[in-house]
Amino acid sequence: MAATRPDPLAFLSTELDALKRQGLYRTLRVLEGEQKPEATFDHHSVVNLSSNNYLGLTTHPHLRERALAAIRDFGVGSGSVRTIAGTMAVHMELERRLAVFKKTEAVVVFQSGFTANAGTVSAVLSKDDVVISDELNHASIIDGSRLSRAAIKVFPHKDVDAARAIARGLPASQRKLLITDGVFSMDGDLGALPGLCQVAEEFGCIMMVDDAHASGVFGTNGRGTIDHFGVHGRVDIQVGTLSKAIGVLGGYVAGTRALVDFLYHRARPFLFSTSHPPAVAAACIAAIDVLEQEPGIIDRLWENTRFFKAGLSRLGFNTGMSESPITPVIVGDGALAMKLSDRLFAEGVFAQGIAFPTVARDKARVRTIVTATHTWAELQFALDAFQRVGRELGIT
Ligand code: PMP
Repeated sequence: MAATRPDPLAFLSTELDALKRQGLYRTLRVLEGEQKPEATFDHHSVVNLSSNNYLGLTTHPHLRERALAAIRDFGVGSGSVRTIAGTMAVHMELERRLAVFKKTEAVVVFQSGFTANAGTVSAVLSKDDVVISDELNHASIIDGSRLSRAAIKVFPHKDVDAARAIARGLPASQRKLLITDGVFSMDGDLGALPGLCQVAEEFGCIMMVDDAHASGVFGTNGRGTIDHFGVHGRVDIQVGTLSKAIGVLGGYVAGTRALVDFLYHRARPFLFSTSHPPAVAAACIAAIDVLEQEPGIIDRLWENTRFFKAGLSRLGFNTGMSESPITPVIVGDGALAMKLSDRLFAEGVFAQGIAFPTVARDKARVRTIVTATHTWAELQFALDAFQRVGRELGIT
């Protein structure tokens, strides 16, 4: 029998105990049944304000049918990475459809939005280069930047002049990537695209936008913030996700044929991790059909967004600077945000509490996300719960 030895992972329990003391320890809520506006989590029926299923496509009949047909015709797995035997015709069809949709020369699909960002930044840059990055950019951009070993220069949120000052201070010969989220996932505000495109042009930066929360939400037929701001042709690398409004799973990079060919050869998640099951790619193609043929669902998303935002402001909550279906209810203290979320849950509303390190220590919040498929009765039910609990906890 092996000699007993001290647990080398004991420090993990110490850290978890600290989270418990701070009221920041979370258990995973378990969804029973479908990802819908009224859903059952942990045996409680709740109005669901926590999913990124903006258009309700996770359960759309057309997507289900295409996924089922793909399973029947092609099986459940791809069996290989894309660069060996795991590129199926359906993967290529999805990339072609996305390129037409995004109006770019080419698209490469990754397993997730996370790997699309991290894999692309780390492939395109190396140690002599610089990333100029908004302070609230997504974790996958930060990780990709670190993996690239490039120098990382962070500018204050949406501060175009600060980004310009950084770019101006760097040697003209140095390769620079200027990068912003299109929609910021915790605040729901939009990146400063027109101003940053201008900076990129002035200083010869590569311009990159992570449109994870804008795909299917902003722009004509949900083409994203590049379309919304009319900056076509000024963003060199556009990232989108297939996991949120598109309702399935994956991420993609849209740009020139050379960019996509380069990522086929150098993006490590593309080279070293198995490709999507064919049903995933088939369902994503079906989602593009829906975006092109049923733009009315995007209009409904925006009607619901306006209704809910107006309600929260009327109740006197601090909803920050949101311009999208993501509306934060900012309360400051982390433990208070978790308490607000727990009390709302008990009242039949699921809105996730978010604290440090996901957001700044004094900006803890409950994040709400409205979808096209919520009814106004469901949204009003949620507003009533916010009103009761907000008063009870002394927030409003
Ligand atoms: N970028 C942003 C801004 C995000 O919010 C997310 C998802 N949290 C991602 C990228 C990653 O996308 P995915 O979930 O498809 O990996």
